[in-house]
Amino acid sequence: MSRVFNFGAGPAVLPEAVLEHARQEMLEWQGSGMSVMEMSHRGKEFMAIAAQAEQDLRELMAIPGNYKVLFLQGGASSQFAMVPVNLLRGKKKADYINTGSWSKKAIEEGKRFCEVNIAAKSRTDGVATIPPQSEWRLDAHAAYVHYTPNETIDGVEFHWIPDTGPVPLVADMSSTILSRPIDVSRFGVIYAGAQKNIGPAGLAVVIVREDLIGMVLPGMPIMFDYKTHAENDSMYNTPPTYGWYFAGLVFAWLKKQGGLTAMAGINKRKARRLYAAIDTSDFYRNPVDPACRSWMNVPFTLADSNLDDTFLAQAKKAGLVALKGHRSVGGMRASIYNAMPEAGITALVDFMRDFEKRYT
Ligand code: PMP
Repeated sequence: MSRVFNFGAGPAVLPEAVLEHARQEMLEWQGSGMSVMEMSHRGKEFMAIAAQAEQDLRELMAIPGNYKVLFLQGGASSQFAMVPVNLLRGKKKADYINTGSWSKKAIEEGKRFCEVNIAAKSRTDGVATIPPQSEWRLDAHAAYVHYTPNETIDGVEFHWIPDTGPVPLVADMSSTILSRPIDVSRFGVIYAGAQKNIGPAGLAVVIVREDLIGMVLPGMPIMFDYKTHAENDSMYNTPPTYGWYFAGLVFAWLKKQGGLTAMAGINKRKARRLYAAIDTSDFYRNPVDPACRSWMNVPFTLADSNLDDTFLAQAKKAGLVALKGHRSVGGMRASIYNAMPEAGITALVDFMRDFEKRYT
């Protein structure tokens, strides 16, 4: 077996210890005589797995008791619609902050249900920045404010939480959830596709304040109502059981690493090392203002883009894969989620330095 360092944006690297644990339990989960994949979601074994996963996530993120945690299907993309459908609550408008590619997707979907006010937009004239909140034009009549704390494609991350007063704040945390502690009580809804920092693709986690549940737009599908899932402990229909189980193993692994404060320290250090390698060279460049650079997704370009394919091919030979930037922006991108070990950063930085020497 030879495992590579996988810098893919998602589905992404998972903790090796967790993969190993899942392998041990693949054929038979704890004396049950079957794999988790084969269990009824309503049986006592799976109910215990599900409850433990939720409890561990609550503990890791210090989720207050007045929030429901939902384990759903449909990815983060379904939440682009479920958010307006559930949170408009008779209002006609919502504020959106546009900081990049995933914000735009959320905005596009939001426009199908309400009047979207772009309260702020990141500047992208060569160096991407997030405008300070003092420059935002929030609408006092907005039903909610939606933002994307970490833009997976653009590598732009908020290192602060907006203050929206009584207007519920909604965050697409797909590519930053669990990377550091956050104050959940500042949010109305937090949602994330699992396939980056949580577990395998096919699961979405939604954390929603209870008072925002139960006012879905009339005529919406039952499956699009948060109340359906909240009242049924995410078991109105068959949930993504294996993904839920695997997420539980990741949560337990995170607790063992020292929780989110420890992860934040590690993630900050990993990111700092990679940005330092980029900044100290004229060969590589990152297009984001240092104040809002992502700890999780690090895009960078080569001084000569004709070398891109050579860089990628040689990186792959060195066991460093999936470094190609998103097709919409080009260049490179290293996604360095919780499960990327420090050794992966060392290997990448060493490779980059060596490549630079050989091609300048
Ligand atoms: N939001 C963000 C920030 C993302 O990175 C992604 C996936 N890359 C999505 C939403 C879409 O997630 P999904 O594929 O789970 O619908």
